[in-house]
Amino acid sequence: MDLVLLGPPGSGKGTQAERLTLAYQIPAISTGEILRAQRLAGTRLGRQARGFMDRGELVPDEVVIGIIGHRLDEPDTQTGFILDGFPRTVAQAQALDALLAQLERPIDAVLYLEIGRQALLDRLGHRHRSDDQPEIVAHRIDVYLQQTAPLIDYYRERGTLRAIDADQAEEVVFASITSRLG
Ligand code: ADP
Repeated sequence: MDLVLLGPPGSGKGTQAERLTLAYQIPAISTGEILRAQRLAGTRLGRQARGFMDRGELVPDEVVIGIIGHRLDEPDTQTGFILDGFPRTVAQAQALDALLAQLERPIDAVLYLEIGRQALLDRLGHRHRSDDQPEIVAHRIDVYLQQTAPLIDYYRERGTLRAIDADQAEEVVFASITSRLG
């Protein structure tokens, strides 16, 4: 089962990815978490990414595409995976399609966590990450609307999009996800 979680920052992608991992025994892969780990470890990749992340900008496509290419080579992804926070641009989605075509394993579903801007601002106001200050959060939402939201149509056209109402309790959101996965 190859899944993608799509939605704005604060829509609950990480939370739902964790639940899906437990339920289906497949790894959740978060580019944001991988990048934060690289920063902590002080690697070259981490140093490259830091400025973009702190400003609420996207890290360059080739950097995250490289990360995902390596990660999907790991044996634990054989039976499936959940991508959380990737792809985030049309170029990333195209690169992912090319990668998965090579592996002969198309995406089964893109779970689009749909939620309004005010609900997001309320949720993100309660988090304590270095890129969760109000101005940076507002910028990350704008970046999402400009660069990531076009993926909604991209996947709708390909028939893989499943829209989920994400402005509900996390267990309710999870129940609607599993019902959509049939
Ligand atoms: P959120 O979903 O709350 O924005 P993430 O952990 O997914 O949090 O991402 C944090 C930051 O990491 C992003 O603002 C961006 O700078 C960087 N990042 C994560 N995934 C990607 C990606 N696929 N492409 C570019 N940048 C990314």
